[in-house]
Amino acid sequence: MKYNYVMDLHTHTVASGHAYCSLREMAKAAADKGLELLGITEHAPQMPGTCHNFYFHNLKVVPRELYGIRLLLGSEVNIMDFEGTIDLEEKELKNMDIVIASLHTPCIKAGTRRENTNAYLNVMKNPYVNIIGHPDDGRYEIDYKALVEGAKVYGKVLELNNHSLRPDCFRQNARENDLCMLELCKEYQVPVVMDSDAHFDTYIGEFDEAIALLTEVDFPEELVLNRSVNALDGHVNRKL
Ligand SMILES: [Zn+2]
Ligand SMILES: [Zn+2]
Repeated sequence: MKYNYVMDLHTHTVASGHAYCSLREMAKAAADKGLELLGITEHAPQMPGTCHNFYFHNLKVVPRELYGIRLLLGSEVNIMDFEGTIDLEEKELKNMDIVIASLHTPCIKAGTRRENTNAYLNVMKNPYVNIIGHPDDGRYEIDYKALVEGAKVYGKVLELNNHSLRPDCFRQNARENDLCMLELCKEYQVPVVMDSDAHFDTYIGEFDEAIALLTEVDFPEELVLNRSVNALDGHVNRKL
């Protein structure tokens, strides 16, 4: 099958406040689906209802292997302003296996196209940030060429968020924005990762919409990091 995958890097447990499964249930579901690696990236503290900073301090107590699959534990941090400030500090970030940085409406109001683009470009300068989460959200208008060039310069991964592409998602224009982003990623040879953004275990590894889009633009398989743990190595904070 084209776009074979062994991982899902962006998921949330009950600790995120608006997700509904435990970490153990998520790991079990990922193993049952035949994945080799699961990323659990709880919302950082400025998201209403999520866990306290202490949750992130104590991640060391959780084994990084459960049910025969590897776990990467970290956070989906909130970009708080157009300077790229995020809501966790280095002392928390340095213990994380994986960090995704995203724009969320409870944490930042959309600015101009230039301001929104700068928010992403500035957060890319943070060495702990690995992935830009759902840059497809049309509620934050951006310059995709600048985004992809930035990802190339700073060595970041851009997310193809399966949830954004589902009809029930509140993000806007994801399909056309993703098509634009994928064409530029092809041109600049910037890697992408398919993520489910699962807030319940049944969504883990569900990439139907993302794969349909990759197929539509004939996206190069070697730029999709989900294909193997080896391919991901060097793109996250933990050595694989
Ligand atoms: Zn969420
Ligand atoms: Zn998000």
